[in-house]
Amino acid sequence: MGKVLGIIGGGQLGMMLTEAAKKMPEEISKVIVLDPTENCPAAKVGAHQIVADFKDENAIIDLANQSDILTYEIESGNSVVLKSIEDRVEINPSPETLQIIQDKLIQKKFLAKNNIPVVDFFEIKSLSDLENKIPNFGFPVLLKVRRDAYDGRGNIKINSGSEVKFAYDSFNGKSLFLEKFIDFKMEVSVIAARNTKGEITSYPVVENIHEENILRTTIAPARVSENVVNKAKEIAEKTMQVLKGAGVFGIEMFVTKDDKVLINEIAPRVHNSGHHTLQSSKTSQFEQHLKAILGLELGSTELVHKTIMYNILGPKGFEGKYKPIQIASENVFLKMYGKEISKPKRKLGHFNVIGTNDQENIVSLLDKVKRVSDSIILEPI
Ligand code: ATP
Ligand code: MG
Repeated sequence: MGKVLGIIGGGQLGMMLTEAAKKMPEEISKVIVLDPTENCPAAKVGAHQIVADFKDENAIIDLANQSDILTYEIESGNSVVLKSIEDRVEINPSPETLQIIQDKLIQKKFLAKNNIPVVDFFEIKSLSDLENKIPNFGFPVLLKVRRDAYDGRGNIKINSGSEVKFAYDSFNGKSLFLEKFIDFKMEVSVIAARNTKGEITSYPVVENIHEENILRTTIAPARVSENVVNKAKEIAEKTMQVLKGAGVFGIEMFVTKDDKVLINEIAPRVHNSGHHTLQSSKTSQFEQHLKAILGLELGSTELVHKTIMYNILGPKGFEGKYKPIQIASENVFLKMYGKEISKPKRKLGHFNVIGTNDQENIVSLLDKVKRVSDSIILEPI
């Protein structure tokens, strides 16, 4: 008999986990997601749904009671409640790991303590504390919230002394930390997995291009030297060794102009920069996550095709229903997330462009991505 998998969060990541679970019916017989949006993306592909807030204690307990194993697709779940039910249901990654990661300051302290390179930072306790700490880095600096940030919404870049008070006040008393601004050469990430037996694997290093703080393009593999590849892989695997619990993790890093590799942040879950694996790799990150938490042998992470992933975001200045999007182009794989309403910058779907022969280089694939993305016009209904 397969197990019942509970997932906190039923957005696109929960949706693609559900789809991967459906391909392993012997191991997983049913998926239940907890998500506040009725008929969320995961529910649309067959997951049962508990409609409630991610932090709702009763709903989490209800989900745990109905599940054999519990995981999550968002890091803002209630780790305190999860910790309290750990002896009743197997939770992976562990609530302890979630607690470390969901507070970015604790996360950075943890990594630094384990000699893993991170961007320099300071805890900030007040406006005067902020004013005193800025000279350690000089302008610009980044002021960040410790918890519940996504798509850059918890970050403010401070460019000069006149912006300090406004930046501080705009966070309305939330817990903050200050980070050195990195004039990076490239952003990269590694999707790594650890199974319940402690086996660790990582996918090839990929290159991430953000637009207005949101990931837009992932290039697999990253256009970096072997030296950088080795550093990034080493950092990712060391991180996996020190973090408890099983699952897939997305490890975001900066490559500096002098080829240092620093961790920006870790996501204790499948990650947007791993969506290319749906077509590029023998094992998708979603399948890998399930293998990891089920204690199965991890799948191959080999990159079979050079692949570029492009996020389809809701256009600016429009909120509402839209006509179905279609792409008819060879070696382009579209994945829409079933979100009925478009909102500015909302992640509505992505497509992967794969290179099928060695002659096809990243530049020609990027040209193709541009042509395809230019052809996608979101039409309101
Ligand atoms: P996401 O949900 O997209 O991962 P987030 O809200 O958790 O993002 P971060 O990852 O901290 O935020 O930052 C978003 C982006 O802002 C980064 O990918 C990077 O492009 C830029 N950024 C963040 N920190 C720094 C820094 N210290 N120096 C330079 N750029 C930075
Ligand atoms: Mg990030």
